[in-house]
Amino acid sequence: MTIAILAVQGAFAEHGAMLDRLGADHFEVRKAADLSRPFDGLILPGGESTVMSKLLRELGLFAPLKEKLDAGLPVFGTCAGLILLADRVEGGEPCFGGMDVTARRNAYGRQLGSFRTTAPFAGEPVPMVFIRAPYIVQAGPGAEVLAETGGHIVAARQGNRLATAFHPELTGDTRVHACFLEMAAAGSFPAQ
Ligand code: GLN
Repeated sequence: MTIAILAVQGAFAEHGAMLDRLGADHFEVRKAADLSRPFDGLILPGGESTVMSKLLRELGLFAPLKEKLDAGLPVFGTCAGLILLADRVEGGEPCFGGMDVTARRNAYGRQLGSFRTTAPFAGEPVPMVFIRAPYIVQAGPGAEVLAETGGHIVAARQGNRLATAFHPELTGDTRVHACFLEMAAAGSFPAQ
């Protein structure tokens, strides 16, 4: 299994380290030509969603990735990556969309820019690192809520799409990435 990691901006390197620990092949996507390699899933990392969205278009990555995502490519978005996958964005513009959720950018405000907690993810407690994070203010019927903390939805899944408001790649816990790899393996998306 090979996972492509969007690497135009933000915290992409740590995702590669997680996938190494789980024994999954991966490569970084910086330009359109990188998409000619076959891959079974995509990670959209944390960073700045507005900047990523702009770079995706400038680098000619938006249209080919949107096409693959609409065709069912398994995808995992963390933090800014969650914003890129949300159909509705408070305080920003939708990018790829595809998840029936409303994301609120910088939802914890400046006072609580960064914090760490532990909360159940799909029933099991996992460590969560939040950095100027969004949360999901509303999840529609199409989306399954996987984690909530402090009364807010911080992880959801919709079919082949997984999104977390937190950064599992900045913890030592590989379970969220393992969950994505299972989804990607089950997804049977045709590697081209
Ligand atoms: N605040 C960022 C945004 O709105 C997300 C922060 C992150 O990805 N760590 O895109």
